[in-house]
Amino acid sequence: MEQKKICYKCLLEDLDEKEIYLKVREMIDNIPEDSRTGEDEYRHRLDVCRRCEHLLAGTCKKCGCYVELRAAGKLRTCPDLKNRWE
Ligand code: SF4
Repeated sequence: MEQKKICYKCLLEDLDEKEIYLKVREMIDNIPEDSRTGEDEYRHRLDVCRRCEHLLAGTCKKCGCYVELRAAGKLRTCPDLKNRWE
């Protein structure tokens, strides 16, 4: 049986963990539109997370959140530095 490698420096969308990603995606889609981060801002936040030392297999080591879900909340901030996503 082939052992699957885990990428600790990836977002969920970059991993082969489709089931988890789809579940998180569903949770994001259920965030009311007026509370959801706009697409450009969302992509910017994820780019910051991709380069961050605290990203661990789609989760943030600082708060334990799935970063894609955290970043999708308009009023959420980075748990490490409040203005890090700005
Ligand atoms: S939420 Fe902040 S601390 Fe966590 S991975 Fe993203 S940029 Fe890093």
